Amino acid sequence: MNAQGSTATECDFIVIGAGMAGLAAAEQLSLDGRVIVLEQESSPAFHATGRSAALFADSYAERNIQCLSRISRPCFEAPPFAVDGPLLHPRGLLHIRLWDNLPLPPDDKRAIYPRLDGKDLTDLLPVLNPEAVIEAFYEEPAADIDIHALQTALIRELRTRGGQIQLSAKVEVARRIGGRWQVTAGGQTYQAPVVINAGGAWAGQIATLFGARDPGVSPLRRTAVLVEPPAGMDVTRWPMVVNLEETMFFKPESGKVMVSPADETPCPPHDAYPEELDVATAVDRLETVTTLSVRRVVTSWAGLRTFMPDRLPSIGFDSGVEGFFWLAGQGGSGIQTAPGQGILTRYIVTGNAGGLSQADRDMLIRAFSPARFDAIAA
Ligand SMILES: Cc1cc2nc3c(=O)[nH]c(=O)nc-3n(C[C@H](O)[C@H](O)[C@H](O)COP(=O)(O)OP(=O)(O)OC[C@H]3O[C@@H](n4cnc5c(N)ncnc54)[C@H](O)[C@@H]3O)c2cc1C
Repeated sequence: MNAQGSTATECDFIVIGAGMAGLAAAEQLSLDGRVIVLEQESSPAFHATGRSAALFADSYAERNIQCLSRISRPCFEAPPFAVDGPLLHPRGLLHIRLWDNLPLPPDDKRAIYPRLDGKDLTDLLPVLNPEAVIEAFYEEPAADIDIHALQTALIRELRTRGGQIQLSAKVEVARRIGGRWQVTAGGQTYQAPVVINAGGAWAGQIATLFGARDPGVSPLRRTAVLVEPPAGMDVTRWPMVVNLEETMFFKPESGKVMVSPADETPCPPHDAYPEELDVATAVDRLETVTTLSVRRVVTSWAGLRTFMPDRLPSIGFDSGVEGFFWLAGQGGSGIQTAPGQGILTRYIVTGNAGGLSQADRDMLIRAFSPARFDAIAA
């Protein structure tokens, strides 16, 4: 029992969710206070974070997300904490224009990358089908992210600073008492003035639990399929390939080829699994843009990419519920932008800018403010 006569465990910040968003925010907030992360599953990174394609591409998504990626890149290249190995590994990203894709608008960030054709293109990726691909741009700095190494480093850093991760601790009850949140999870009670909602696909449900309005958090399923390459074919140095309209992508993964139909099927938050039709579509699209003929699907999985109604994340305090902070809606860029999200979260919550420039923080706070949905309330 503490001085207030409560058996609750006290801390400065409660983070709900041990995916990449929650872990990055927890690591940053632990610079300023005691953090407890509450995770419903028995291991961290069980949902979207553990199912991603793990690519870092500067060109990905629109300009505010690109800004968050720019802020994040140095944390991957020269992490400010101990890591067990490099967090980025060279991969490269080939943006291909298929015969039915519109050309890139000149102001599109992808258009700045070198256009590859002829031998340059076949040297890079011998299996591309020349009848399907009419143009290609090569984003060489795109890299694979070692998610496990990043996650391990963030957890270690958090613990070193006295923070805690409680697994099998689903947040089920929340009450605001005397300027603090009292939260019950896994049979224990925790108290903190600030709660960070990093619940991924569950962020809307968590908001409702805390008395905040869900402005339309949408989990969208995305499928990944691992196929066996032809015998003797070394795929390990292939770049990742994505078409301009993102209706398919493929990349090497553990000596095999991972392919996705880039599906976006709305569904409730749950432990996502692949549908047969999406697996077949992935294989069909791979066989269309390459000369490969798929002999065997090794395995497949699906994860939920979660979006706010305007497809930008919400990062900031709820305008109607005191001490309730949104860190949700990371969509398809939640791994590569995680360090930047953590830095921005720390700045908004504690005022410590951690090297974030004023221009960047002004722009991002405005773009990601949860209050942007107030006008469409109720
Ligand atoms: C197939 C696929 C490919 C992708 N490719 C990329 C990529 O190449 N690059 C990239 O940057 N991003 C990619 N993404 C997106 C990226 O994976 C997500 O944006 C990111 O993982 C979101 O992290 P998160 O922490 O918000 O969510 P999650 O990892 O889902 O974490 C949320 C956590 O909250 C927990 N939780 C929910 N409710 C509660 C509760 N009540 N109590 C306690 N815990 C709770 C959940 O159990 C979960 O662990 C991809 C995603 C998919 C599915």
